Amino acid sequence: MNLDTPVFQLTRVGKATAKRLKNLGIETVRDLIFYLPFRYEDYGNIIFIDQLRPGIKTTIKGKIQLIQNKRSPRQRKFLTEALVADQSGTVKIVWFNRNYLTKYLKPGMELYISGSPSLYSHELYFNNPLFESVKEIKTVHTSGIIPIYHLTAQITQKQLRFLISLALKCFPQIIDWMPEEIIKNFNLCSLSRALQQVHFPQSNNDLQKARRRLQFNELFLLQLFSEKAKLSLKNSPAYKINFDESLTKKFVQNLPFVLTNAQRRVSWEILSDLQKSYPMNRLLEGDVGSGKTVVATIALLNAWQSGYQSSMMAATEILAKQHFKTISVFLKKWSINVALLTREECKLNEKEISKKELLNKIEEEEVDVVIGTHALIQKVVQFSKLALIIIDEQHRFGVGQRKALRYQDKKIIPHFFSMTATPIPRSLALAFYGELNLSIIDEMPKGRKRVLTKIVNEKDRAKAYKFIAEQINKKRQVFIVCPLINKSDKLGVKSVEEEYKKLQQKVFSKFNIAMLHGKMKNEEKEEIMRKYREGSIDILVATSIVEVGIDIPNANIIVIEGAERFGLAQLHQFRGRVGRGKHVSYCFLFTYNQNQKTRQRLQALVDSYDGFSLAEKDLELRGAGEIYGTRQSGIDSLKIADLTDYQLLKEAKKAATFVMDNSEDLSLYPFLKKKFDSFQKSVHLE
Ligand code: ADP
Ligand code: MG
Repeated sequence: MNLDTPVFQLTRVGKATAKRLKNLGIETVRDLIFYLPFRYEDYGNIIFIDQLRPGIKTTIKGKIQLIQNKRSPRQRKFLTEALVADQSGTVKIVWFNRNYLTKYLKPGMELYISGSPSLYSHELYFNNPLFESVKEIKTVHTSGIIPIYHLTAQITQKQLRFLISLALKCFPQIIDWMPEEIIKNFNLCSLSRALQQVHFPQSNNDLQKARRRLQFNELFLLQLFSEKAKLSLKNSPAYKINFDESLTKKFVQNLPFVLTNAQRRVSWEILSDLQKSYPMNRLLEGDVGSGKTVVATIALLNAWQSGYQSSMMAATEILAKQHFKTISVFLKKWSINVALLTREECKLNEKEISKKELLNKIEEEEVDVVIGTHALIQKVVQFSKLALIIIDEQHRFGVGQRKALRYQDKKIIPHFFSMTATPIPRSLALAFYGELNLSIIDEMPKGRKRVLTKIVNEKDRAKAYKFIAEQINKKRQVFIVCPLINKSDKLGVKSVEEEYKKLQQKVFSKFNIAMLHGKMKNEEKEEIMRKYREGSIDILVATSIVEVGIDIPNANIIVIEGAERFGLAQLHQFRGRVGRGKHVSYCFLFTYNQNQKTRQRLQALVDSYDGFSLAEKDLELRGAGEIYGTRQSGIDSLKIADLTDYQLLKEAKKAATFVMDNSEDLSLYPFLKKKFDSFQKSVHLE
């Protein structure tokens, strides 16, 4: 047997089993070895039966006294009842609909039983607990820490464990591709030992070491990937954009406000990068309302002064128009030609212009700054001297789109930075945007008021509506966010259309209500946003379309229906729609969900106004895949890495830098090179 031996050649693997294994992606002995457990049951920490407490998860070890199948009296279910005893006492075990168990669980057998016992008429019993035979556990060389694998039906944990134990003798054949220096310097165990311990841990300590090694593998490859990307950019040419100090000072002095220190710092970070002859690649993170637009404008201004074109791409039509307006005002003192390019509308310096004419002018260099939507990345848009690209809310753009924009001018690669108000936890930023330099605006402009946030129970809905009506009578405006556009079958989930109707007809009939969602025509959306901005609409019922960027200082209440359906970071974004003006602002989180976990999550939003800590919490509670999508961010390639482990990420980065410093093309490390090449094929990072 070797690593490439097909599994169907193993003992006890027939055609049917081979097929089921294939469904799990297991075809060879190698696949078996690399099929990692996702969690463990620790049967090592055993208590006596007389120490059992209801509701507390524990493991006991005892002998089966008797076991029998029964028909449940009330429900039409089968149940299997057993009595298990140790030296301290006995306890009852109940399994439902698993009467096959009596085929191999026999009196006299010794079992580990793991679960939390319940209380039923003063008696403790285990309901559907996990169990293992003591004898069997001894035969697979574990210490009582049992790996649990993701399995499909018809393959059991025991079966898989048995098969992997057959493969044990092949473990030494596994080539460790990690350079020896790294293994030594970072105190890693060998790959074959790590794999062995991860399947058959001898102690908790061994298991932790093994897991650390495997996690390190993944993070290290990811960091190597970033380092490579960095290097290739460093070797590409870009236009140098000079930092014009007196111009920039003048611009800043002209602003109606004083820049925060954080705004100054990140502007400087960006301007220093722009002076280099290779492209900047930067991520600018700043909480909602932290003032990223003005920072972007400083970069655009300097690009113009150096004689180049620049562009800014926004996630939606509404945002592009808003940016166009704001930035035109910021720059109006200078004779800069600022254009708007969207699918619906093109403008040059406040004047409407045909798309064709605008495209011509862009090509002829008669336009300095182009602000638009992804209409900007169509092939027909040909810049002649594009030196800088800014993207607002980058996570809204796919990899391909970004590439198209970035590499349009084949010879020169524009400087690039993306702005996001979604605070990306630093560990994630390092894991997935390791090749990007990070700038963070961690300070809000002075005088910003906290948005008062409240979880509102259904019974207080009328009270909340009354409060809202009072605020509207004081000329304030309101956002109401619903999870869906249309009515759905899902009970209780609010939709924009239904809610709009209900509020208009019943609750707020004397106010002006409008709705906004992604399926509406652009002109319609425009019209509504215009009216809302002017104040002729009191209440805007919308989908998550209002999540990013929209700036309506007079709106001071945001109601979020079905709040539990959104992530914390997203809720924080919604909340950022209000509190932008001089009025005290409110965020009402409506939820039917009484689940304690949900409550806790929403409570975090009530307690914290720090987008970064909320994002960290989100990551902890929901995991990276669910929040950030999977394929595009490369999360797919990670099987075991813990993305909240910032410490290990930093070490992996250090190791990757070390390797690259020693051998840029990895030729010094042939095994690593081979591994990295195949890794690279499997991931498509931005
Ligand atoms: P975001 O970072 O969410 O994109 P914006 O750039 O839209 O934030 O800025 C939000 C609001 O704050 C805008 O009205 C902007 O003019 C204003 N602003 C920006 N910087 C400052 C500052 N330093 N002091 C006061 N107001 C500021
Ligand atoms: Mg913004």
